[in-house]
Amino acid sequence: MGGVTLKQNFNKMADYKCEVCGDVVEKTGVTIRYIAGKGAIHDVQCEECGEYMELANPKSGVPSFRSNRYGQTY
Ligand SMILES: [Zn+2]
Repeated sequence: MGGVTLKQNFNKMADYKCEVCGDVVEKTGVTIRYIAGKGAIHDVQCEECGEYMELANPKSGVPSFRSNRYGQTY
C-alpha cells in the first residue's frame, strides 16, 4: 500500500504525455492515486519506455467536486 490516501477513477477522456520520449496517448477511466510526498499519480505508463506519463491537458483530468452540498442556502 505505502501511503496511498486517495483513489479515484476518472471516466473523462484525458491526454497523457511521456516526458521521456514525448509520446502522447488518450485514456479514459484512469485510476488516480494520491501518494503522500509525491502528489497525484495515475496508472498510465508509456508503452514505449514504461515511464509514468504526465497529464497533458489538466483541464479535463483534474477532479472538480461540485459544491452543491456547501452551496445550498439555509
Ligand atoms: Zn516514453
